[in-house]
Amino acid sequence: AKQRGKAGFVRYVDGMGEPVLAHMQLGGELRRALDGGELRVLYQPILRLDDRRLVGVEALVRWHHPTRGVISPAEFIPAAERTGLIVPLGRFVLRETCRQAAKWLAEFGPDAPQRAAANVSARQLHDPDFVADVTAALADSGLPCERLVLEVTESAVLRGQQVSRTLYDLDRMGIRLALDDFGTGESSLSLLRAFPAAIVKLDKSFVDGVEIDDGQPAAVNARQAVARAVVQLAHTLGLDTVAEGIESAEQAAVLRELGYTVGQGYHLARPMTAESVSALLARQQSL
Ligand code: C2E
Ligand code: CA
Ligand code: CA
Ligand code: CA
Repeated sequence: AKQRGKAGFVRYVDGMGEPVLAHMQLGGELRRALDGGELRVLYQPILRLDDRRLVGVEALVRWHHPTRGVISPAEFIPAAERTGLIVPLGRFVLRETCRQAAKWLAEFGPDAPQRAAANVSARQLHDPDFVADVTAALADSGLPCERLVLEVTESAVLRGQQVSRTLYDLDRMGIRLALDDFGTGESSLSLLRAFPAAIVKLDKSFVDGVEIDDGQPAAVNARQAVARAVVQLAHTLGLDTVAEGIESAEQAAVLRELGYTVGQGYHLARPMTAESVSALLARQQSL
């Protein structure tokens, strides 16, 4: 496990393709951002594909930098993971998500999002205080456990005993675990047996091109085959599914035919402020 972690670290630094110094500067600035309230959380609606009802949200962090404008998480999450700042950053997102989800529940009752999801990095799963942090975030907000989803990626989960214990503890608490970017890793299928997942999120790479019909190159149609296999497997195992990154009505229609009932993507709704989600919920309530 140690070796895997080490290799993962090296690959990770290579993948960034940026000088280490830039990372260190980013790390210092990120500390300030965290303390200075420059991080904000947006929420992307997760909708039922048939009637477009909102069933959940995913929390996605943004950095409102004083001079560089809004920075996407793809740019700073890797640095946060490398410096360890992902632990306090993740704690902030988790607390914010629970607080906001509890607020929607109080305000909208049965029309509130049934679940609110936060992304969790490998580093957080390794943190011995993680389960206590989650427990505290739930207790302080008053959000019922079953309304919280923690999204983890395959690579984060494939990291040994401690992580596995943490995941089982969270599952026992009634928190739902979602396997994010499903299908992109090397051992997705075997992982489903070894991990207490409640939700599988079909990765966007299988949604891209899923609508393209027969007569197209096999490489394209293979996505349809994977999308179908994933939803069938999930149903067999009693797991919920979310199809990610839906960008067109055609994709939504094909995914519905394949058996997906819930989706997320720009075609359905973009990541938005909590206020915008509230406005959406109010509209939905009045229907
Ligand atoms: P992710 O968890 O896979 O989140 C989905 C990403 O896809 C989000 O990007 C979302 O805005 C984007 N997206 C949603 N629908 C569409 C679509 O139809 N088309 C396209 N092209 N993109 C779509 P975002 O917000 O930039 O986040 C990127 C990644 O950063 C996330 O990928 C996640 O891995 C990470 N991330 C974001 N917030 C957090 C956080 O609070 N903690 C951690 N650990 N990671 C985070
Ligand atoms: Ca996610
Ligand atoms: Ca369970
Ligand atoms: Ca994802």
